Amino acid sequence: MAKKKENTLYCSFCGRSDREVELLLPGMNGCICNDCAERAVELSREYLDKMSRSMLTDIDMDSLPKPAEIKAYLDEYVIGQETAKRYLSVAVYNHYKRLNQHHDDDIDIEKSNIIIVGPTGTGKTLLAKTIARMLKVPFAIVDATVLTEAGYVGEDIESLLTRLLAACDYNVAEAERGIVFIDEIDKIARKGDNPSITRDVSGEGVQQGLLKLLEGSVVNVPPQGGRKHPEQKMIAVDTKNILFICGGAFEGIERKIAQRLNTHVVGYGAGNHVSKADRDKLLHFVAPQDLRSYGLIPEIIGRLPILTNLEPLDRDALLRILTEPKNAIVRQYKKLLEMDGVELVIEDDVLGFIVDKSIEYKLGARGLRSLFETIMIDVMYQAPSLGKKRYVLTREFAEHQLSKSNFEVLSEVS
Ligand code: ADP
Repeated sequence: MAKKKENTLYCSFCGRSDREVELLLPGMNGCICNDCAERAVELSREYLDKMSRSMLTDIDMDSLPKPAEIKAYLDEYVIGQETAKRYLSVAVYNHYKRLNQHHDDDIDIEKSNIIIVGPTGTGKTLLAKTIARMLKVPFAIVDATVLTEAGYVGEDIESLLTRLLAACDYNVAEAERGIVFIDEIDKIARKGDNPSITRDVSGEGVQQGLLKLLEGSVVNVPPQGGRKHPEQKMIAVDTKNILFICGGAFEGIERKIAQRLNTHVVGYGAGNHVSKADRDKLLHFVAPQDLRSYGLIPEIIGRLPILTNLEPLDRDALLRILTEPKNAIVRQYKKLLEMDGVELVIEDDVLGFIVDKSIEYKLGARGLRSLFETIMIDVMYQAPSLGKKRYVLTREFAEHQLSKSNFEVLSEVS
């Protein structure tokens, strides 16, 4: 019934003629107009979402790793950070129990969003990434520094969810039980303790926006992020079951902790002069009120009930990072050379030298890779063509490579 008058085509769904619509697509036995086609896409997306939602409703708790197993997995990739690993393992496990909860009882298990406080480069992102890989849930990392209130230059809060959607091919049901890691959460802290005097409007506005996501609400998310395409269709995402893990260095928070602890003990704050070692230890005692003094609004802190800290990495931990994790840098390079038929032998004092340099340059764990890469670059360049079976990396060579970038390589090849 697509054809009523000769030469005039009609949409088989809404009956409008080709003159009344922008586009009429002919099929085998009829036509469809652009409006009906669009609606059909929407309907099928809604249907598929509903289907995948109903398929996802129950997670088999027996197949889900127990906290001790989650921690054991983390141990394979992350060195140290025992406390944080335990907290994370339990929080994530409970999160999945919560997803499985049937709402016919009165006890409502609350979301266990997490906040990790710790110096930069100590493994916050690595922990979150590793956990997401293990649980096979969609995972997105976002940097809080790029977030702004709607209307300002920067990304809207909703863009956090755009990343999560992109991570699971826009499967809304999957995204709704994913994990979002918000890095540098401390950067949206209100500057200063007194909101009325040193109010940082944008910082607080972003926190307010974030609060909605943390609390759990249905948010309209632009599929491409940003607001450059006002005509694009929004995707409704319910954040009720999304786990948020926030991380931040909170530089200087030790002072707040010291002040609070001293106030409790002697009744007067004298915590302004704290040695480096003491500062490191103080992080153990971080409490929600310290985050508040730092400038996070109480509502946000309330929505991040699990607070844990990461330890600064000492020399021993850095040494272990070079060799122990499953994908440790040294293992990666050995593997790379092995593929060329070359065995990489690293003399004992080389790794210590690299760690010392990383500490000296204040690069921490992040610096280990770039230092090692600088040392290895010429080896990697020439090894495949030399046909040698073994390469011994000596401290002398490492020192030379670091002090001089254009080094005539492989003098040590045996
Ligand atoms: P941040 O705490 O700033 O999020 P990252 O997790 O991004 O730090 O760490 C940067 C890099 O340093 C990681 O990719 C990893 O290679 C290394 N690293 C940091 N901490 C650890 C750790 N505890 N165990 C193993 N590697 C680590």
